[in-house]
Amino acid sequence: MMLARGRRAFLCLLVILFLFSAQPLEAALGAEGTIIHVVERGETLSVIAAHYGTTVETIVQANGIANPNLIYVGQRLTIPTQGSVAPEESYVVQPGDTLSAIAVRFGTTVSAIAQANDISNPSLIYPGQRLTIPSAVQQPSELPTQAQVHVVRPGEYLSQIARLYGTTVWALAVANDLSNPSLIYSGQRLIIPTQSATLPAPIKVVEFVPPRVTQGHTLLLKVRAEEEVSLAGSIDGRSLTFTGAGGEYWALAGFPPWSEPGAHPWSIVATDNEGRAVEASGYVVVTAAEFPIQYIDLPPEREGLLDPELVQAEWARVKALFVQVTPSKLWRGRFLLPVEGEVSSLFGTRRSYEGGPVASYHMGVDYAAPEGAPVVAANSGRIALAEELTVRGNTVIIDHGLGVHSGYFHLSRIAVAPGQEVGRGTLIGYVGSTGLATGAHLHWEMRIGEIGVDPTEWTARAIPE
Ligand SMILES: [Zn+2]
Repeated sequence: MMLARGRRAFLCLLVILFLFSAQPLEAALGAEGTIIHVVERGETLSVIAAHYGTTVETIVQANGIANPNLIYVGQRLTIPTQGSVAPEESYVVQPGDTLSAIAVRFGTTVSAIAQANDISNPSLIYPGQRLTIPSAVQQPSELPTQAQVHVVRPGEYLSQIARLYGTTVWALAVANDLSNPSLIYSGQRLIIPTQSATLPAPIKVVEFVPPRVTQGHTLLLKVRAEEEVSLAGSIDGRSLTFTGAGGEYWALAGFPPWSEPGAHPWSIVATDNEGRAVEASGYVVVTAAEFPIQYIDLPPEREGLLDPELVQAEWARVKALFVQVTPSKLWRGRFLLPVEGEVSSLFGTRRSYEGGPVASYHMGVDYAAPEGAPVVAANSGRIALAEELTVRGNTVIIDHGLGVHSGYFHLSRIAVAPGQEVGRGTLIGYVGSTGLATGAHLHWEMRIGEIGVDPTEWTARAIPE
């Protein structure tokens, strides 16, 4: 049954592909670096622009068109291309071929081939299919740092949006990490990738590591400049703390588990020694993560600890520490696991207390460990807080510099004092169940500013690498 359905779906798609390839778009190579397109009945400038991956404005300019709505059948249009274009090659798909294998063979990318052939699903190619292999003008990244954003309107399709901006469904799907291009929703913010990133001098490179960030994770923003500059900037309206020198700089940004998947704006201002400032801006894509749901019953004597006013007041106290920025980096390399024990609750777990609504996210990782087990500093820094709090119990917070903090809650005993400098692995306390806890465990969290991020990412790799 499953098999039959799969085969039928595949056949339907083949029909669609053949229809596409029969589109009446004819082109000839003209002078070096241009294509001549002869207008067919029913074509509009935006359809033609979309076909060649260019914009209506570009074609209007190249042909001195006064009114973009007035083109006529048989009109010869010059389609400017970026740089010089080598004649395109074609390739007939062999049994067993994949698009990525073909891309490697011709030194190009899957998305470039998909774009050149109007392929919406790159895993569906078939033997005998003739593919145009675009001459590879390599882009440094599939996701340019300079991009526009489009807010999806009710009833809009991805193909319409692609046409509007002279790009392809596939390019939009890649840039926005859409697994199913037919599932977009009204109000969704989509990144419209642009052909070339133009950064104002002296900014040379703006790079994101990873290129797309997952909800609840940490983003490293690297900036390279031609000369010494001072940098300021923000992502999602939260300010960035840059560090570095000699033209190489970086900053960190945290994205909470409830970050909206899609495009999030960033901007940076670089100021040179003479006080001249330039601004660059763009969008970074947040992709969705799946967070488990946990239902928690508290022992009756601890239920009072959920009093919202109390929870809020304690958060205000802790947040005031998290938003403090010590201007130098105090940590080194990867973070250690602060305790030996099994993970009993993952970062980002959705929580319902006492049968109430699933209203909160778990902002740390819980490790089950016996009462009294040693807890160590995950990395070097300065003790920002070491005291008993109502909800968090006996709490240690370490300032690692540059707005990065780690927190260790529910301790039975605290072994450090505020202001003390600790090294990676220094004993800071012992596992307990003080505060809002259902048993002995360590709650460990990491914050970038006030934003909680998955701490296990910091144990898996050195940030920055
Ligand atoms: Zn916890």
